[in-house]
Order: sequence, then C-alpha cells, then structure tokens
Amino acid sequence: MKSNEISRRRFIGTLAAATTGVAVSGITPVFGNSRDTSDKLALLGGIPVRGNKKWQTWPQWDAEKFNPKMNEVMGNRVWSRSRKVAEFEKKWAEMHGSKHCLTTVNGTNALSAAWMQSNIGPGDEVICSPYTFSASIFGILYKGAMPVFADIDPETFQIDPKQIRKKITPRTKGILPVHICGYPSDMPEIMKIAKEHNLFVVEDACQAHLAEIGGKRVGTFGNAGCFSFQASKNLPIGEGGGILTDDTEYFDRLYSYHNFGYASGSVSGQISSISALILANKIRMAEYQAVIGLCQLEKLEEQHKIRNENGAYLNEKLAAYPGITPVKLHKGATAASYYIYSMVYNQDKLDGLPRQRFIEALSAEGVPVGTGYPNDPLYGQPMMREVFKSEIYQKVYTADELDFEKYKQKNHCPSLIKTYGSALWIWNGGLMLGTKSDMDDIINAVDKIHNNVAKLK
Ligand SMILES: *Cc1c(COP(=O)(O)O)cnc(C)c1O
Repeated sequence: MKSNEISRRRFIGTLAAATTGVAVSGITPVFGNSRDTSDKLALLGGIPVRGNKKWQTWPQWDAEKFNPKMNEVMGNRVWSRSRKVAEFEKKWAEMHGSKHCLTTVNGTNALSAAWMQSNIGPGDEVICSPYTFSASIFGILYKGAMPVFADIDPETFQIDPKQIRKKITPRTKGILPVHICGYPSDMPEIMKIAKEHNLFVVEDACQAHLAEIGGKRVGTFGNAGCFSFQASKNLPIGEGGGILTDDTEYFDRLYSYHNFGYASGSVSGQISSISALILANKIRMAEYQAVIGLCQLEKLEEQHKIRNENGAYLNEKLAAYPGITPVKLHKGATAASYYIYSMVYNQDKLDGLPRQRFIEALSAEGVPVGTGYPNDPLYGQPMMREVFKSEIYQKVYTADELDFEKYKQKNHCPSLIKTYGSALWIWNGGLMLGTKSDMDDIINAVDKIHNNVAKLK
C-alpha cells in the first residue's frame, strides 16, 4: 500500500470532523483495545502517517527579501547598538502597548537584568514557578535572594496562584511566573496577590510571544516582562532578548545597566563620557541582530494567528482521545504562543502503555514529540547547593535555611514531579505553522496509536 492511500483512508475531513468528532476516518475508535489492525504502526514496520512529508523548518529566512536589509547594515558598518536596535525596541513596545522596551543580548540576560535592577536583595524571598530551567532564576540568585517554589497547576502547567498564596511570608518580595510552553500564566490572579503584598513581578515570557489574557499580551502585566529571541523561539534572531516595562525610572536603570552604567534619563549625575553611575554590565543587542528581528517581526502576527488556529483545532480534536489531554488555557487566556504544543499523557487510559513507548510510536509516525524537561527540579540542582555555600548566602541566611535537604523538602512540588512524568511536548519551531492537513496527520497518528495499543505492549 502506498502512503498516500493510507493517509486518504485515515484522513479526518475537516468538515465532517467538525460535526461528528473523530470517528469519521472509517475507523471505529475502540481506544486501548485494538480492533483497527489494518494500519501497521510505523514503529512496528508500517508506513508512517507523515510519509516522507517534512514539517516547516525553523528558523525561517526569506533570503531574497531579507538579505538586502542585512547587507545594508553590514555595508554601512554601523554594527553596534544604534538606529535598528531602537527601531526594533519601538516596534516591540508598540505591539504590546508597553511604554518601554529594552533589548539585550539574550533572554537569560533580560531576566537577570530585570532582577538586578529590582528592589529585591539578600534575605528576600521570590516565589517562582518550578516548571522551567536555570535561566529563569539566575538574577534572583545574583541578588542574594532566596527562590521559593510554588507548585504548578497540572492541567495548565502554569504556576498556581493558590500555591503562591501558601508560600507568602513577611520576607516575600517578588514573584516569577513563567509562561511555560507559551501558554499564559494566570496573570490577573498573580497581580492581585502582588498588589496585596506589594511584590515585584518579573514575567518570564521567553516562550510566550504574543500570548494574551483578555486581549492583553503577556509580558505587560508585571513590573517587567522578559522575552527571548533565541533561534528556536517564535521570534528567532539566533540570540536576543527584550524587557518590557511601563516604569520609566526602572527603564532608565535597566538602560544604564545594559550599557556600562552610563547615564540614561533619570540615572544621571556628575559624569564624563565613561563615568559609571551604577554597578552594571554590557548586554546590548547589536544592529545586525535587530535587523534579523525586524525581518522576523514582519511575519509574526500572521504566524501567531496560524499557530492559534492550529492550536485550537488540535485542542478540540485531540480532546477525544483518552490517552492524552491537551494542556488547558486557563479561563481568561485568549491566545497562546504555542511555542511547544503540550499534552498530558494518561498512561492508565492506554492500558498502562509507558509514556516512552507512546513517544517512540508517535515519533515513528513522523510527529516530533518528547518528554519536555526531565525530572530535575531547580530546587534540587547542584547550582543551588553551590550558591548556598557562597559567602553572601552564608552571611545572610541561617544554617537551617541553607540545609540543602531541608530546602529541597520545603520546596517539593508534587504536581511538578507528576508533570515531569506525564508531559508530552510536540516541539519543532515550524510545526504549528502547518496546514490543516499537517494537523490532521498529528491527529491521525494519535488515532492510529490508540487503535493499536495492544501491539505496542
Ligand atoms: C529560552 C528561555 C530563556 C532564556 O532565553 P535565552 O535567549 O536562550 O537566553 C529563559 N526562560 C525560558 C522559559 C526560556 O524558554
């Protein structure tokens, strides 16, 4: 049988599927109880649902259109921060209805700068989402503050506001929500808590370009919102970062910080041209980075629309399969960035089939899928032990507070651990920009596995 015959047979017609659900591919889905044995799983030697079709590559670059723009800035030899960077910042701020945008060399440094110029310091606590990686919290540790982890909602993967409330102490000074996988965290609830307790909020929106809550884009709710323009992200520059804020004085400090501590706006004083006014860094975006960013920006809104149409389609269709549950957008969330299309794997609904086996089977059908972050929570990583041994932490905190085993126990997040063991990440920059028929391939691959579970065991 040729692969196009299979895909025709399995194809879930958009129109029919809209009214009758998933059982329109000529198959009676008897989940977890293989009856449809005609299509051999690719893992077991059958023909992959995807055949040899490729997903869109990522990052994308229209050489004919964009090379002249790149050549212009290379040719005029203004390569360090200048007009192009300012133009990119203006556009990014405008797209968000934000007063200011400051670009940086990457997202990690955007986050670190945001914390460095915040009012948190040694002895303070910052409540963090645990479903992320080290880059989210470096800045908190540079400041000598203590990360405190509040568990996630296992249905949305986002930090749970109810868990944040439980972690508030008189020492709490900040909150770090991470819009993980590009789905919005519950910012209205989080900002309510922040207002009640006068907390500084830095949003890690590094995966969440243009995600929205009630039409307001993430990165604009907290005191600062940080973005990454790393090559895999939805606005890929290769390396690049941005910070949004409405606070002009804070912005001036961020600007000065990213530029050797030189004067900027309200950061002023007795200066020569090389007089540093604040303890700083140099993390400026280059002109050619900004040109790449400006080129990518031309397509971003349109791509965002496609990703959300595809996301909504997958959410609706995949909901019918008991073995997986698409990650939910919390009430109020009006758009995700779908940087990673995420699901929860329900092993018990697929007759105990291990997640790894499901991943192998889905990958073999041509759908790039993985587990996401491994079971290695930030609060247990060697970095934390190292930080606790540092002079500043030794001076500021008690031996009890720096007891690493106690710290791990105190910060243990059961829903996080459960999610490490059950998450499925469909992850490939260009995949969510595909056609309806590309999305149908994903649905058909999931369908095929559901109907052949017994053979995988
Ligand atoms: C990518 C990312 C970062 C870091 O951004 P870089 O540009 O790679 O430095 C931080 N937090 C999250 C959640 C990310 O996905």
